[in-house]
Amino acid sequence: MTLQDLSASLYNCQRCKLAKLGRTQVVFGTGNPNASIMFVGEAPGFNEDQQGEPFVGAAGKLLDKLLESAGLSRSQVYIANVIKCRPPNNRDPEPDEVDTCKPFLLQQIELINPKLVCTLGNWATQTILEKKVGITKVKGQAIKLERFIVFPLLHPAAALHQGNLLETLKDDFKKLKAYLDRMDAPAVQVMSAVTAPTTPAAAQPQLDLFGS
Ligand code: URA
Repeated sequence: MTLQDLSASLYNCQRCKLAKLGRTQVVFGTGNPNASIMFVGEAPGFNEDQQGEPFVGAAGKLLDKLLESAGLSRSQVYIANVIKCRPPNNRDPEPDEVDTCKPFLLQQIELINPKLVCTLGNWATQTILEKKVGITKVKGQAIKLERFIVFPLLHPAAALHQGNLLETLKDDFKKLKAYLDRMDAPAVQVMSAVTAPTTPAAAQPQLDLFGS
């Protein structure tokens, strides 16, 4: 199965009640199908439902700026949501909706096979970690799962609603950038970390990043 096959299989999806609660279309996801970094939000809002793409409204504009601050562009990464249809009046997703849609998010992740999954907000973080953990406790740090690394971040919409969170979100994107820079460091550093008896401290985290 390809990502396109998966997207086609969800066209006009009727698997949960959101199909009948006013959504315009399924918002599957967008970006580079071979991305090594994926961002996962909560659910499409009004603009996403209209345009069929995740994060195209106000939160999306902020996300674009944050991506840029981390040296990333939309075309480099892949962006999706936990649930692929807009809940009425942007209410929170309900457990049966998440249960129905989650397998498709997991399939999406498996097909894209990113190294890093950045979860935006509580819903995405708890869905991917399969743990009821508060975002403020885990944000801005890398958590290694079996197949990929999770990097939880605040949801950009939270920073739009609560201005005091914006600086925190910006700081966490700085941490993401620093993390990516370490991931990208030349392999020779890893080699020297492995072979040299006096390993430079800065090279150490690389070993953790790749889990080797
Ligand atoms: N918020 C989300 O979680 N996802 C979107 O696509 C847009 C806003």
